[in-house]
Amino acid sequence: LTVELGERSYPIVIGENLLANAAAYLRKASVPDKSPLMIVSDENTAPLYLQQLETSLKNDGYRTVSAVVPAGEQSKSLDVYNDLITQAIEAGLDRSSTILALGGGVVGDLAGFVAGTYMRGIRFVQVPTTILAHDSSVGGKVAVNHPLAKNMIGVFHQPELVLYDVDTLKSLPPREVRAGLSEMVKHGLIWDKEFAYWCRDNAEHLLALDAAALAHGLEKGCGIKAQIVSRDERENDLRAILNLGHTLGHAIEAVAGYGQFLHGEAISVGMAAAALLGEERGVAGLYAETVSMLKALELPVTLPEDIDSEALMTAMQRDKKFREGKMVFIVPLGIGSVEIANDVDADTVRTIIER
Ligand code: NAD
Ligand code: ZN
Repeated sequence: LTVELGERSYPIVIGENLLANAAAYLRKASVPDKSPLMIVSDENTAPLYLQQLETSLKNDGYRTVSAVVPAGEQSKSLDVYNDLITQAIEAGLDRSSTILALGGGVVGDLAGFVAGTYMRGIRFVQVPTTILAHDSSVGGKVAVNHPLAKNMIGVFHQPELVLYDVDTLKSLPPREVRAGLSEMVKHGLIWDKEFAYWCRDNAEHLLALDAAALAHGLEKGCGIKAQIVSRDERENDLRAILNLGHTLGHAIEAVAGYGQFLHGEAISVGMAAAALLGEERGVAGLYAETVSMLKALELPVTLPEDIDSEALMTAMQRDKKFREGKMVFIVPLGIGSVEIANDVDADTVRTIIER
């Protein structure tokens, strides 16, 4: 799979047993071995996969240094960013160096932001180890959080290569598996009807981490994201459709308290609500169909009983896309296609979340 972006393009390699052969893929992507290469991982991925990756690179003449950050969203901070910059300077990384992210979306976003800003930007390679990271590793958005807002400090920085070894997904906690599949089926729901149904019909294989099913699902998911991003690299318009389920999803994450709901779980509820909104606007049967897909993947589709709907409305209105009683929502037109609706009544949204 290749991502085309104007003059540039980069490969996404998806398959089994890739970590042990990582060096060959880096060579192919013209990652130089003269300067030190820094591998960034977290406390969960390092003990599992760092050594295998390092061995492959060292045996092939790459000089590697590694930095391990605490696991979790808290590491997407300016403090951890600063630590990594310090380590990069101390290890002598220069303009020809490369930063390699070994981990989920947190490590990818953090290490990518280091790569995008160290000496005004050096090479970056993504080695995603979560299903969710099929979404975060394509598109070039990298960032850390500000205490007041998520992803507030970032740049666009495209990788040289995405190396997706599906073997690494076998150690994922089941809840993280499901949350990642939520973004996968989202790509079907916004762009590709056949793929959305494929996710439903192969849910059992996906949940069981069957390598062939995962490879196909990730390839499709990455491919759809790549197509959308290549048409709108800087998020002027089309790219907004990737936010299906996210307006409500982000509000749920914020109101329930970060960590109560995983991102993928929150957007699953958001996608179910968006389907109701689609029915409200005239597409019959959309809700039942959407819910059948999300439920097959063992994802939640309803809000918790005790969540405060007014707090959700407030959180959504804090979202920049809100004006005078009208809200911007990504609304399904059917399975596999959506529209960016900027005229959704706040009252309609309130009715849907209260129901
Ligand atoms: P994550 O990186 O925190 O990984 C989830 C958990 O799984 C962590 O505890 C991690 O240590 C652990 N883990 C990772 N790989 C593992 C493995 N193979 N085996 C066992 N445990 C493993 O979270 P995530 O869900 O991958 O990514 C979420 C982040 O991605 C968020 O910060 C979000 O903002 C970001 N994101 C970015 C984009 C983008 O376009 N840049 C898109 C979507 C999401
Ligand atoms: Zn998302």
